[in-house]
Amino acid sequence: MLWSQNQAYTPEEMIKKHLKPRGIKNKLVLKAMRQVPRHVFVPEKFKAIAYYDRALPIDKGQTISQPYIVALMIQTLNPKKSHRILEIGTGSGYAAAVLSHIARQVYTVERIEQLANRARELFNKLDYSNIEVKVDDGSLGWSEKAPFDGIIVSAGAPAIPETLTEQLKEGGRLVIPVGKRGGLQYLTVVTRDKNGEINQQELEPVRFVPLIGQEGFKENNQE
Ligand code: SAM
Repeated sequence: MLWSQNQAYTPEEMIKKHLKPRGIKNKLVLKAMRQVPRHVFVPEKFKAIAYYDRALPIDKGQTISQPYIVALMIQTLNPKKSHRILEIGTGSGYAAAVLSHIARQVYTVERIEQLANRARELFNKLDYSNIEVKVDDGSLGWSEKAPFDGIIVSAGAPAIPETLTEQLKEGGRLVIPVGKRGGLQYLTVVTRDKNGEINQQELEPVRFVPLIGQEGFKENNQE
């Protein structure tokens, strides 16, 4: 099949061609991804390919994640309607918007002010009233709003930030890419059980921009 024939131009085509065939079956996730207009979150020049299964550049050298990876991370998080979810790495705001269709409240932290402001503007414009945005180092979570039913980190960390696992409720899940900066990372799911014990499981290899912060990578260091 030609590459162009496999491309999607609407959320529905994206779901049919890229999400369902790769194992995304959570009904809440599929419904949310059908509803969020990804073309509004990508830069103007990429609007025509907004529903391709591709990460795309946004401002400040960052990216909007690939739809399949957003869906996989949220399906793994398994949010419920009653949940309060923390997202680290707002970026364009797309993943937070998808989460906001499923969970009761979404808190999202972005270290780059310009990106946080633009995402906040979009949330207002699109009437997403259950998303709160903060500019800060998200590797330290959002202590005033903790504990969370689930935490999703949309940037690659060198290790699992302890502060984030401490901000999980009992039975809560953290989904986070862990590994080398600019290299191999594994999508990892961390659960905090009833006794406060932490269990972790690696899912699939991924490649994310780095989580930069106190419990992430250093700003100007390639380590
Ligand atoms: N979820 C985003 C979306 O849907 O567009 C994609 C996020 S992008 C792959 C990763 C984002 O994490 C970038 O915007 C980056 O600035 C941000 N980031 C990196 N380190 C961070 C930190 N310590 N705290 C908050 N945001 C961080």
